Amino acid sequence: MGGTAMRIAIASFEDETMTFMNEPTTEQRFEPGVRRGWDVIDKNRGLPTYINGFIQVLEAEGVEMVPIIEANKFNTPGPFSSWITAECFEKYACEITNGLKCCGNVDGVLLALHGAMAVSGVPKPEAEIVRRVKSCVGDKPVMVTLDLHANEDHELTDAADAVFVLKTYPHVDSEQIGSTAAKCMLDTLHGQFKPTQSLMKPGLIIASIYQASEHYPMKHIYDRCREWEQVDAVRCVSCAPGFAYADVPDVGMSVIAVTNDAPELAREVCEDVCALAWSLRDEFSTPLPEPREGVAEVMQLVARGEKPVVIADGADRIGDSTHILRELLLQRASNWCVPQMADCEASRMLEANHHLGDTVSIRVGGWYGEHSGKPVEITGKIEFMGRPRYTLNGPMNRGMSIQERFVSRLNLGQNRHVVVSETTRSVLDSSALEAVGIDVSSLDIIALKSRVHHRAFWDNVAKVNFPIDAPGYREIADLSNLEYNNIPSDIYPIGRKWRKDG
Ligand SMILES: [Zn+2]
Repeated sequence: MGGTAMRIAIASFEDETMTFMNEPTTEQRFEPGVRRGWDVIDKNRGLPTYINGFIQVLEAEGVEMVPIIEANKFNTPGPFSSWITAECFEKYACEITNGLKCCGNVDGVLLALHGAMAVSGVPKPEAEIVRRVKSCVGDKPVMVTLDLHANEDHELTDAADAVFVLKTYPHVDSEQIGSTAAKCMLDTLHGQFKPTQSLMKPGLIIASIYQASEHYPMKHIYDRCREWEQVDAVRCVSCAPGFAYADVPDVGMSVIAVTNDAPELAREVCEDVCALAWSLRDEFSTPLPEPREGVAEVMQLVARGEKPVVIADGADRIGDSTHILRELLLQRASNWCVPQMADCEASRMLEANHHLGDTVSIRVGGWYGEHSGKPVEITGKIEFMGRPRYTLNGPMNRGMSIQERFVSRLNLGQNRHVVVSETTRSVLDSSALEAVGIDVSSLDIIALKSRVHHRAFWDNVAKVNFPIDAPGYREIADLSNLEYNNIPSDIYPIGRKWRKDG
């Protein structure tokens, strides 16, 4: 391309929309965290993100970057919200296309899209974004990165030149996938690569808790993807198990193969990986224990010395669920912590009326709705109060600094700890426990509100990771408890075709 430097536009519009919540997602949820222009580059540099992957590759090759926008509601703390409004979608989609129209000629576009956006009135939002981008840049290549919680179908791969998806859950390869996409873009522009691809769906909808990438059955599938990537003309083979908590027509697993001028081979790869996934279909819905039997089993494990045990209550992202806490109390377990009891009212009451060292009786949790369980009465000594500030120490987001809002830790005796917080806490690693004075090595049971992300750190600490399927508002394991209207009737195992109740 000698002479003038190559120019690549970068844009990101990401969401993982849980469509079973009440409030729609408007631009107010996105706007505080939106980055524009060079802020997109500055805020991502050095972080484990797709965009930093783009930056690393493009800068090393002396390519001029043209950053447009990064819109992601998870950059702003706030309540979980449902369907994105059409107005909100239009706003950011138009900012991308306007940015492309105003920035002069570009040689290609890299888009980080996540892939699980659900928009009222726009059935396949990511495909729509790519089609609009294409209409701005003509035959210039447009390449896309996705989270593996992406719900997509062939409309996306028909529109984009190449699509690349994470292979890790917990997600630790975002930067790597960003670099893969950027390298593929440069090879394509240099005429050394001709992207051809295929996307196929095996017809599976899978709860998040079954999607851990380093464990059977997903590991089996990713191993097959990696095997295919050893074949000469195969550039990247992805399997996105999808985001099940969205009532959308393209929900569920997708397999995507990007090949070098070999469309037939791309199809063959997809067929093979889809057949493997289908053969494993029942492994993705093995029933999990409910809170009562689950906690009883955990206590048996502890009694046998199989400890510490991490309980993963995957359904509760509000942070107010009391099902596990209640069972730990009723069944008289000791040496445990429940470090994520989000209860704004209780937290403010503690801050206003109590001091370190006070013994208090207080009702916590159970405020969001019926699935949260009833509030639980606890009595304990306040051993920590404050707004902890610390640095994450595990494989996910290592080095990121956290400043929490007000948090209190109550010791209920027998080394039993409940951490009451103003807003939902995340416990990706031990730093969130140490910051409130919990001695992790003294615990038998660590009861987390998480599905898979915690495993990047806690699998190295815990003897057993023990998922329990408590009721909740998000990401429950048994999808037959959710009411879908838009998913394909033959999707396994909860489409109409497979339901015993017809
Ligand atoms: Zn994800």
